[in-house]
Amino acid sequence: MRRPELTPTRSRSRRAHHADATRRRLIGGSRLSDFGRPDGFLDRQLSTWRRQLDASRSRETPDLDRLQTALEADVPETARTGIVHGDFRLDNALVIGEGDQAHVSAILDWEMATLGDPLVDVGMFAMYWEIAGLPGALASAVPSAVDPAAGTPSLDEMIAEYARQAGIPVPELHWYRAFAAYKLAVVLEGIHLRYQQGGTVDDGFDQMGGLVAQKEQWLRPLLNAEIRSAFCMTEPDVASSDATNIDTRIVRDGDHYVINGRKWWSTGAMNPDAAIFIVMGKTDPEADRHRQQSMIVVPRDTSGVEVVRPLTVFGYDDRDHGGHAEIVFRDARVPASNLIAGEGDGFAIAQALVLKTAWLMDTAGNKQAMTEIQSIKIAVPRGVQQIVDRAIQLYGGAGVSGDTPLAEMYAGIRSLRLADGPDEVHLSSLGRAQVLRRAGS
Ligand SMILES: Cc1cc2nc3c(=O)[nH]c(=O)nc-3n(C[C@H](O)[C@H](O)[C@H](O)COP(=O)(O)OP(=O)(O)OC[C@H]3O[C@@H](n4cnc5c(N)ncnc54)[C@H](O)[C@@H]3O)c2cc1C
Repeated sequence: MRRPELTPTRSRSRRAHHADATRRRLIGGSRLSDFGRPDGFLDRQLSTWRRQLDASRSRETPDLDRLQTALEADVPETARTGIVHGDFRLDNALVIGEGDQAHVSAILDWEMATLGDPLVDVGMFAMYWEIAGLPGALASAVPSAVDPAAGTPSLDEMIAEYARQAGIPVPELHWYRAFAAYKLAVVLEGIHLRYQQGGTVDDGFDQMGGLVAQKEQWLRPLLNAEIRSAFCMTEPDVASSDATNIDTRIVRDGDHYVINGRKWWSTGAMNPDAAIFIVMGKTDPEADRHRQQSMIVVPRDTSGVEVVRPLTVFGYDDRDHGGHAEIVFRDARVPASNLIAGEGDGFAIAQALVLKTAWLMDTAGNKQAMTEIQSIKIAVPRGVQQIVDRAIQLYGGAGVSGDTPLAEMYAGIRSLRLADGPDEVHLSSLGRAQVLRRAGS
């Protein structure tokens, strides 16, 4: 059973699937009175998952322990009881038929089902909208993530539909959503433990285990500002404003990847605290154009990594963040678990934040906002550059000297027109979108 293909053009039938799924499963009211014990269900769930966490411990998890205590201190009153599926998500829905005829014919995987508070399922289902909103790696590692940009209802719409069909006011789900996050974290701790023990058995679990390991090794020190990172995509030898041109190779060799390529404009890499480089390169040059690239974490002290030189911007060292660098990777070898998400996910990761912004703007109800924001990214740097240029003219020689900040401001704003993706590329993509929109209307 695979998750049905999600495309925007199918959004009406997709909404029908959801309404159907919502009606079939999420409403309680079962007559199977001996199927489980609804009394004390939430307390029992908490103890079960606490035991699960205790059995999965491989390290200190103070945040998770705090969440557990907070959940235990604030267990909500169960307003209704019914069947709880226990693992309710899109890829447990069996869909038959095509196009507008497609509908949910069954919900699978009932082995965890019992009687209890049905809002537990709603909270868990909501989790998959949150996962889709995460940048890159984790979202792409979870196939059941629900992406409203692909035509599914928004989370608010799903909850409102649930409430309508259940005949209840829109439920307060804070506790249930926190509980879902807790359960998922406990599951991940279990996968992490097995991964550490070498017990994960397929690529998906390996990838997930690797993600937790990366998070522990790099993300936590990054968040605590103990180390910094630099992003290495742009290359001197290819037109890098189109990331599909990137030429650096990332080649699998047993349990490692070997990286060869030359990068430049890696902002912040001159800072000695930049302990890791996130390198974009090709794992499969024969794959589909947008599936050739991957991203991988390369520690600065890896043998074969050479920070060749610092780059200046109009002669300024632009050193607030440490400075931009040119870096060469010669047979730099890192563990395979350093790959971020999967092979071929590089392009998707690079676009994840942009897509999330676009989705937020769309779900916030202003479809025009995308166009407006792109226009702002084009017009504002140009406008500011013109203002600084006129101020320089006004100041005469002082304007281009180091005695006023104007020359440095000019250098900064002029280079922003390249650093944030060349504004000409934004302009041409905006133009293309406008032409397509007009042609479609
Ligand atoms: C201050 C600064 C900081 C940066 N920080 C980083 C960083 O941290 N990490 C990183 O990887 N990179 C970084 N960059 C690099 C930046 O992302 C690239 O310079 C930019 O994407 C352009 O790529 P390129 O230099 O290869 O130019 P090219 O791709 O060779 O483009 C050259 C020119 O051709 C034009 N052009 C290209 N394609 C089109 C098109 N389709 N339509 C119209 N015109 C087009 C553009 O106007 C562009 O100015 C930084 C750059 C600067 C200046």
